[in-house]
Amino acid sequence: MTSFNDFGLAESILRALAEEKYQTPTPIQAQTIPLALQGRDVIGIAQTGTGKTASFALPILNHIDARRMRPAPKACRALVLAPTRELSGQIADSFRAYGRHIRPLDIALAIGGVSIVPQKRALSRGVEVLVATPGRLLDLVDQRSLRLDQVELLVLDEADRMLDMGFIHAIKRIVAMLPKERQTLFFSATMSGDVTRLSANMLRDPARVSVTPQATTAERVDQRVILTEKASKPALLAEILKAETVDRVLVFTRTKHGADKVVRLLNKAGLAADAIHGNKSQNQRERALAAFRDGRIRTLIATDIAARGIDVDGVSHVVNYDLPNVPESYVHRIGRTARAGREGIAISFCDHEEAAYLRDIERLIRISIPSTDRRTGKRPAAQHAGNGQQGRPNHRGNHQQRGSGGNGGKHRHGTKGHRNHDARQGGRPQAAQPQPQVQRTGSARDEQSGMGNVKFMQRSNEPRRGAGHRTHG
Ligand code: ADP
Ligand code: MG
Repeated sequence: MTSFNDFGLAESILRALAEEKYQTPTPIQAQTIPLALQGRDVIGIAQTGTGKTASFALPILNHIDARRMRPAPKACRALVLAPTRELSGQIADSFRAYGRHIRPLDIALAIGGVSIVPQKRALSRGVEVLVATPGRLLDLVDQRSLRLDQVELLVLDEADRMLDMGFIHAIKRIVAMLPKERQTLFFSATMSGDVTRLSANMLRDPARVSVTPQATTAERVDQRVILTEKASKPALLAEILKAETVDRVLVFTRTKHGADKVVRLLNKAGLAADAIHGNKSQNQRERALAAFRDGRIRTLIATDIAARGIDVDGVSHVVNYDLPNVPESYVHRIGRTARAGREGIAISFCDHEEAAYLRDIERLIRISIPSTDRRTGKRPAAQHAGNGQQGRPNHRGNHQQRGSGGNGGKHRHGTKGHRNHDARQGGRPQAAQPQPQVQRTGSARDEQSGMGNVKFMQRSNEPRRGAGHRTHG
């Protein structure tokens, strides 16, 4: 196995990594860092939580350390574009951590939602590394506080999410201002057609590294589906939060509005919860995240976009209150649990309008997720207000195997795992194990071990990402 020492990184960086207690490079790091150090453009595809930040931050810091020069006023030597403020803050923190022994090293953050004035000031003398969200970056350029003609290295992090969030035009405008002679590193959790097209225009003869097939889910996640009426979801969620051995639960809704609604419902049921999503202010989001991290709030409701890049260990449960209509999002969502080598439980509510989403998800992950049928059979109507309890007794123990959950009923699971559903943790559901019917080629399996690299994510007790990431500048 490679070690960080094999890469030929500067001693100052190796020392910082040792202090961060990074012992072994993760698979994406092991494969991308040597290529990036050679000066190649790289496309890196790996699931969230696999260590992509260091995959670009270490080669960049090494380049800066090896070629010391004063940045020009209002210029940056390395530009990192990220989709959200939270993620940008985390990336800047990582640069500071890995680069703490490189001096001088100016790292600036350009993100929306906070005053632009300190950001202008931070950029005035030029910086080595600028981490930015696209909108604010363009504001700074438009206000002549930033020039992009000196960028030596460009990183696009979470490219898929950037496109999801509609940043395509901003990205194109930014790239057009950059020198043609530069190194570009491109990271994404998934590689869609749009992402491929974008990368084709931005990179020069890129090396491609993919350690995570999109079509797999973390092996340690115990996945379940509860078939339910839409109107019963609130009661079902309250029930799970009370019954399951829940340490920290991340609840996903499709919309911001939905997230707020779930918070209200839970609060009404006497359960503390908070939400993070794009309509919340930076401060509100940071407060909610900090409370979630240090355990003051056990339940956090999030939308897909807001949850991306949140790095919280010890999320014991992910609840998909709504199923995502983009199947890859399911993989990202459940990847928020079972981090740091722990096990996790992912419970998805599926009402009849979401049956097609479930089929798409199961097709993508090539697993039939064990399900429990909690449908009352009644039309969801006014009478359902706060229901979910009513129909329940009849259905307890009535855990049906869905006949043909998108797999033509091929993937039959033993019922053992299901029996335990309502009672706490149950054994690992069969689905988490390779199924004979599931086509897993040898290589898919190897790649899959890349998913297992959450085990590299063991961290020391002081979470660097803790409440510590503040906006700066
Ligand atoms: P990604 O961008 O792929 O979602 P991050 O770069 O945010 O992943 O890394 C996830 C977590 O793993 C972070 O807390 C980071 O400090 C930690 N980490 C990254 N690389 C290593 C490593 N080689 N050894 C130990 N921990 C690591
Ligand atoms: Mg990342």
